[in-house]
Amino acid sequence: MRRILVAGNIKMNLSRSELNQLLSSIRNELETQAEPIDVAYFPAAPMLDVAQSVLTGSDVLWGAQNMHWEEGGAFTGECSPLMLRELGCQQVILGHSERRALFGETDEMINRKAASALAHDLIPVVCVGETEAERESGATEVVLTRQVVGSLANLQFSDPSRLVVAYEPVWAIGTGKTASPEQAQEAHSHVRSELSNLFGTHAASGIRILYGGSVKAGNAADIFSKPDVDGGLVGGASLKPEQFVPIIRAGGDAARQAGS
Ligand code: PEP
Repeated sequence: MRRILVAGNIKMNLSRSELNQLLSSIRNELETQAEPIDVAYFPAAPMLDVAQSVLTGSDVLWGAQNMHWEEGGAFTGECSPLMLRELGCQQVILGHSERRALFGETDEMINRKAASALAHDLIPVVCVGETEAERESGATEVVLTRQVVGSLANLQFSDPSRLVVAYEPVWAIGTGKTASPEQAQEAHSHVRSELSNLFGTHAASGIRILYGGSVKAGNAADIFSKPDVDGGLVGGASLKPEQFVPIIRAGGDAARQAGS
């Protein structure tokens, strides 16, 4: 049984005090009413210490939005897996479409990062997804196959719950347009079949695939109800507790309905 993960990608947003308030309030919500799912936040790197101080001892996990694959060296502006571990991170987002499009990340780089994350006991949350033009030209599955194979080939993990894939159609990120639950299911099922080709059916059935792209309180329950959707990676709606808590609750409801 895959454990649902609802994750907040804060991107380059919030001050330290705003982050402190947000994480404290999510922590309190989960202390008041626990859910049978994983919840994680991904703040900007200079604020990971805020996450560590507010979330240590709570049910909320945290991680970074990117990392380099090397442990250290002359890589100005980068953070290493060892640094993330020192900040208590359990997870790291890799290959977000903004990093692919704006910072030139390739599948090969993401693959090296994901291998390094696993070797340093960090769960990589590897993002894949097609652009609007790719979807309109009927290339969605070809693009997903290329990204999944290129970013994940040859990864070593003993437990498939240590690898997470996020399907994030680029046209749905921060746009208010969301994939329909059926479109999400179709893409997730394709990603899972590619994971089967890479790692075998048993491992693929244990790898969580999150949906990301304008997830909100109003659409989360329908998207999370699909069999290959194992939670969500949430940008804008993760910045406000009143918007994120209902998404967490929708994840909890989906987990209860699935019988966990
Ligand atoms: C994201 O940045 O990963 C994301 C899905 O953003 P949003 O929820 O704002 O579309």
